[in-house]
Amino acid sequence: MSKISNLKSLKNYNTFGVDVLAKYFAEVFSVEELIEILKNHQPTTDNRQPLILGGGSNILFTKDFDGLVIQLNLKGISEEIINENEVLVTAKAGENWHELVQYCLAKNYGGLENLSLIPGNVGTSPMQNIGAYGVEIKDSFVSCKVLNLKTLEVETFAKEKCDFGYRDSIFKKEGKGKYVILEVTFKLTTKNHLIKTEYGAIKVELEQMGIENPTIQDVSKAVIAIRESKLPNPKIIGNAGSFFKNPTISKDNYLELKEKFETIPGFPNENGIKVPAGWLIEQCGWKGKQIGNVASHKDQSLVIINATGKATGKEIFNFSQMIIDSVLEKFGILLEREVNII
Ligand SMILES: Cc1cc2nc3c(=O)[nH]c(=O)nc-3n(C[C@H](O)[C@H](O)[C@H](O)COP(=O)(O)OP(=O)(O)OC[C@H]3O[C@@H](n4cnc5c(N)ncnc54)[C@H](O)[C@@H]3O)c2cc1C
Repeated sequence: MSKISNLKSLKNYNTFGVDVLAKYFAEVFSVEELIEILKNHQPTTDNRQPLILGGGSNILFTKDFDGLVIQLNLKGISEEIINENEVLVTAKAGENWHELVQYCLAKNYGGLENLSLIPGNVGTSPMQNIGAYGVEIKDSFVSCKVLNLKTLEVETFAKEKCDFGYRDSIFKKEGKGKYVILEVTFKLTTKNHLIKTEYGAIKVELEQMGIENPTIQDVSKAVIAIRESKLPNPKIIGNAGSFFKNPTISKDNYLELKEKFETIPGFPNENGIKVPAGWLIEQCGWKGKQIGNVASHKDQSLVIINATGKATGKEIFNFSQMIIDSVLEKFGILLEREVNII
């Protein structure tokens, strides 16, 4: 059975590099071990559920965790060709996301290439329906296996049951804290790939690379180049990527704002108009601004950074609240945090 350590520092287990302690900590390598630990572990007095940790790239610890933190290290990738154009690829929760994408590209399986270089683990990918450059995992997601924390039974969630939305799923709503995602299955193409280059700077990047008819591997390379040039590397400077979601407001609200703020960008979607949170934050003067140990990134105001490496989770949280307050005051729009606050 996995060894449980006491008072373990989580500094190296979250990409903000926040130094908090977990009362108990265990790494698990199989579903049996996970069940065993959950059966034997006595919850804390306030009945706190264990916290499942992947790569720690979408989490902000604001205080020590007074319970059990479980790092899921389930490994393995399997595949099943289902017809002449499609394959099912199943990866266990502890596989690194980007390594799975690269594994698929090496086999010429298409569908995940636009999601190259997103940090974190496969098991977390359904949590917020990770997305980038015009693609979300829901586009190729088939199902996931989960462990129900109440019954300790393994269940299968088909796509419809996951209730995927923009950076959202059942696992962030009514299923929050109730399931451990054990493995995820994707349906990918083996030929006649759908190349998606419309979004963001992919086209420009491909042009600069001198590529006219891109393959899925080219798209991945372009995405990697763009991401490396735009986003701070958490290994160098602590961050969790976009801290806030891009808000969607009603068309009327957007038109009202447009009268006052002529240059406000807006992108229609099925619920109204999506406004880039980065633009709103920048307009409030936050881009590159530092208070104490925390700052908004100089090139990406949507990314909050642990500027000195010494920030506490509370400082980062308070900084994010100041941003929320000023965007609300100036635009009347309430920003929602994308990062999971613990
Ligand atoms: C530089 C940078 C860029 C990023 N870019 C993007 C991007 O383009 N698009 C995007 O969507 N995201 C992006 N992110 C956010 C992040 O990479 C994703 O949300 C990723 O899926 C988080 O995975 P993780 O394993 O690190 O999750 P963690 O931070 O470990 O966990 C996140 C939450 O999920 C829960 N959890 C973790 N594993 C499981 C499991 N197996 N079962 C149940 N619950 C679980 C945790 O308890 C926690 O609440 C970025 C982050 C960084 C640092």
